[in-house]
Amino acid sequence: TTMSNKQHIVMLPFMAQGHLIPFVSLAKLIEQRYPDFTITIVNTPFNIQTLQSSLPPHSNIHLLSLPFSTSIHGLPPNVENSHSLTTQQLPSLMHASEFLEPHFNLLISDLSKTSTCRLCIIADVFFGWTISIARRHNAFHATFTTCGAYGTAAYYSLWLHLPHTHSPESMVFSIPWFPPSFCFHRSQLSSYLRKADGSDAWSLFLQKHIRLSFSSDALLCHTAEEVEPLGLRILRCHTGLKVYPIGPLNPLPVWRGGKKPEMACVAWLDTHPAGSVIYVSFGSQNSISASQMKSLAAGLEASRKPFVWVIRPPIGFDVNGEMKEEWLPEGFSKRISESGQGFLVERWAPQLEILAHKSTGVFISHCGWNSVLESLSQGVPIIGWPLISEQFYNSKMMEEELGVCVELARGVEDEVESMDVEKVIGLVLDVEKGKEMKKKALKCMEMMSEAMKDDGSSLIALDEFIKNLFG
Ligand code: UDP
Repeated sequence: TTMSNKQHIVMLPFMAQGHLIPFVSLAKLIEQRYPDFTITIVNTPFNIQTLQSSLPPHSNIHLLSLPFSTSIHGLPPNVENSHSLTTQQLPSLMHASEFLEPHFNLLISDLSKTSTCRLCIIADVFFGWTISIARRHNAFHATFTTCGAYGTAAYYSLWLHLPHTHSPESMVFSIPWFPPSFCFHRSQLSSYLRKADGSDAWSLFLQKHIRLSFSSDALLCHTAEEVEPLGLRILRCHTGLKVYPIGPLNPLPVWRGGKKPEMACVAWLDTHPAGSVIYVSFGSQNSISASQMKSLAAGLEASRKPFVWVIRPPIGFDVNGEMKEEWLPEGFSKRISESGQGFLVERWAPQLEILAHKSTGVFISHCGWNSVLESLSQGVPIIGWPLISEQFYNSKMMEEELGVCVELARGVEDEVESMDVEKVIGLVLDVEKGKEMKKKALKCMEMMSEAMKDDGSSLIALDEFIKNLFG
């Protein structure tokens, strides 16, 4: 075997779109800034195969798959990514992911034997076991949280301490690590967190991995110092880790399934005045309930504002399947397409192109972290409708800390009236409050673009991280 004397970074993202995408973006950023490094992204075969198309042909980033069998873990055949699973099936994927350990160990062992340079592993927080592998082979270890700082801090604290279980009769509660005046509400907990008692599959998995991650050498966070001072302060104070905010990473255009991005909706946007259009999307894997979908449709129509809606079947149906008319108010699609008020895109839209378009005025979003960064990096304020996990804290942070969001609803059980939808749209697009939000969103956009400049905080943090690694 030939010995390599190149710095080598091995990255292991969790098998979910919201994790894979920022890991790839981070790999690309490191490749661009440190062209002499070797970078390898490791994952399961199916995920590696889909990642292939997201790398340009000349890229030096290596993709490597580890053996993974879905059938022995009770997962549907060939399903290796959370986007094709229901919430109930996620614990199976988490459990299955731990079986990657021996294969990853073998890989790191081989790589460290053939390299004169110290290896660096950058792993997802869900892979706490990578730390002992790093120690065994004298590799540097960093954890990369693909969420924001505030969202990560709230998520960690809630899972580690389960504060809501200490006052079961109360709807609001404060959580450790956050200022005591900060109120969290039971409706901001995913159903599996609400039911958690410390001995359920979710708590066991998450508590173990979050705790393990505290002995990593560093925590990379997908945010910018200026945008999330509070969240970063909390993480630094309570994890004891050196925290490096290295975002927002350039989002890459992605789509899955057979359909190519529907650029027709961009042409449609061209026909509308600046800041007038509502963009509606609930991310890559979530949907709302059937009754919420009808209220949302009716509210959008009643607002008389133009809108682009990335629509998919409601929760309880195959959310990646075909849309049916019966899930919408009678005659809705026909009316809005004839009047030109609305543009429906099934399942997948070129989100970044839409957000970057000058006609887009506001984003009705589930507050997935990638969506949040994409929206704010384009100066687009948000109407929040968080659905699961740390989305609730992203929405809260944007409303209370940044002032760029108003929340319309929470989760899939909320009763939403079409009037509520109409009212919040009016608030954001027509009145003072909306102007204030827009101003603050533009400020975020500026902070984000500054952070990613050569002498900006995020690239300085990245350089510092790399210096620490290979020093
Ligand atoms: N996305 C997109 N088109 C869509 C839906 C989603 O391009 O129709 C992209 C979006 O730009 C973002 C990612 O998919 O980069 C979704 O990530 P996010 O963290 O917002 O939510 P998740 O899908 O993980 O819940």
